[in-house]
Amino acid sequence: MTFAIHGLNVSRGVAIGRAVLVASSRVDVAHYFVQPHEVETEIARLRTGRNVVVDEIRRLQASITHMDPKETPQELSALLDVHLMLLQDEELVGGVKRWIADRLYNAEWALTTQLEIIARQFDEMEDEYLRERKADLEQIVERVLRAMKGAHSPVVVQPQRVARKLSQQDLLLDDTVDVPLILIAHDLSPADMLQFKQSVFAGFVTDVGGKTSHTAIVARSMDIPAVVGARLASQLVRQDDWVIIDGDAGVVIVDPSPIILAEYGFKQRQRELERGRLQRLLHTPSVTMDGEKIELLANIEMPEDAPVALSAGAVGVGLFRSEFLFMGRQGRLPGEEEQYQAYKRAVEGMKGLPVTIRTVDVGADKPLDDSLRDDAHLNPALGLRAIRWSLADPAMFLTQLRAILRAAAHGQVHLLVPMLAHAREIRQTLAHLDQARKQLDNRGVAYGAVKLGAMIEIPAAALSLRLFLKHFDFLSIGTNDLIQYTLAIDRADESVAHLYDPLHPAVLRLVADTIAECRAQGKGVSVCGEMAGDVTLTRLLLGLGLRSFSMHPAQILAVKQEILRSDTTKLAPWARRVMEAEDPERELADS
Ligand code: PEP
Ligand code: MG
Repeated sequence: MTFAIHGLNVSRGVAIGRAVLVASSRVDVAHYFVQPHEVETEIARLRTGRNVVVDEIRRLQASITHMDPKETPQELSALLDVHLMLLQDEELVGGVKRWIADRLYNAEWALTTQLEIIARQFDEMEDEYLRERKADLEQIVERVLRAMKGAHSPVVVQPQRVARKLSQQDLLLDDTVDVPLILIAHDLSPADMLQFKQSVFAGFVTDVGGKTSHTAIVARSMDIPAVVGARLASQLVRQDDWVIIDGDAGVVIVDPSPIILAEYGFKQRQRELERGRLQRLLHTPSVTMDGEKIELLANIEMPEDAPVALSAGAVGVGLFRSEFLFMGRQGRLPGEEEQYQAYKRAVEGMKGLPVTIRTVDVGADKPLDDSLRDDAHLNPALGLRAIRWSLADPAMFLTQLRAILRAAAHGQVHLLVPMLAHAREIRQTLAHLDQARKQLDNRGVAYGAVKLGAMIEIPAAALSLRLFLKHFDFLSIGTNDLIQYTLAIDRADESVAHLYDPLHPAVLRLVADTIAECRAQGKGVSVCGEMAGDVTLTRLLLGLGLRSFSMHPAQILAVKQEILRSDTTKLAPWARRVMEAEDPERELADS
């Protein structure tokens, strides 16, 4: 039966495919595809993990038999029997092997997928005793996962397709083609998303998340349709269900009828045509009708994104989110040499164009590892994040600064510091930079000059611009956080997503003042938050005086199209009206 789930539209376009459910687990689980010739090794890893746990339980059972029966609860022995039985259960073991052999899932992914299926069966059981065995099953799966962590194979995402024939009922679609896969999860961390970046998924759906949560940002950077904040999607959708993601409307359609499939197939083709048309603008200079030259820069997450940025027509990188180099590494942070090589790759990849490297911004919804998620903390977004984290760990910060300075010997590098608010933090940052230079001098290592920039993403910073402009060569407005902190809205929380408003007069005032002050002082200013890539806001930002936009490469041509149609002389007075309007959204829509 067809039904729809509503969420937040975070990445545009239409995706049609089969659901792949990624179960949430308390253990940090990698999800990737193995090669067909690796299936046996993967099954062997699973067997090893299971045997470790079986041995542990048997040892425990043996020790119990030597104990005084009065001291050993009878239930314990019975429970261990249940655990052994579950470990050998054919439905669990056979199912996991099938996910590995048929779908090429890695062992951990296969195990959690099968757990999810059996757990649902337990949920539906009438018998309360049996229903409660679900917790036992979860426990033993967790133990197997932990045991497998010891024998962990490297996490490599294979950019391969999983070929599966469509059945006759799959209507309208050619049954000789591979089936696109749609990832459905309760939550995905930015590090998870990064892992999926080169993989096969045609779209993403998560139960939680806001429009500018980092998971949503990575989905947008992958340029594939995504819906977040879809509440119960991971419970309502079943493995292998046909789903359509309407990324424009933020809707997920499950088990669509042939008519709906046909309609969305048409929409998908229309979008492809639209993309084709935009490609024609690739070499057109980004200049408004009244001759204002507009700089279009790219936001990237990894050095390997640099060629994508170049081929999308970016004239530089306006934001390299360096924290993605630090995530998902089980606490082992990248050293100076590794970081230097990564930054150098990005710089060389941009072939002489400037690269703005932002110092690490972890914390809030960007934990280093899933296991280190700061859920227990009251307000992680207001906690030890970004520059606060860097200044709290000077050795780590100096390592990063040295790596960036060394990369600057290979091209134009701008160094950008996130989340500054206090004069003291500015002074400390500058002192660390001096120290990093001295350390390199002492070692006789070559390094280059950098332009120094600060992100304006805390209202306090936007309200003390003179202080910032005294110390920095340029400012970059991080509207994602500026909105979050101005409106007191957690950007990752879907329950308050309706209040997350880029057009709130207070937000527009802070953005406008920052642009105006930088221009008055002849300093560079850009916007690198998601507002910069939103075509519905391009004209407004132009009207507010912005001449430099940094966004995901996939959005560059659509924004350029808006720029080519704009006349800034007319936009300036209109933008003032929007800013002063009680309902800026209506003013924007009416124009
Ligand atoms: C921002 O806050 O707007 C920004 C660009 O940084 P991030 O999204 O990584 O917090
Ligand atoms: Mg930010």
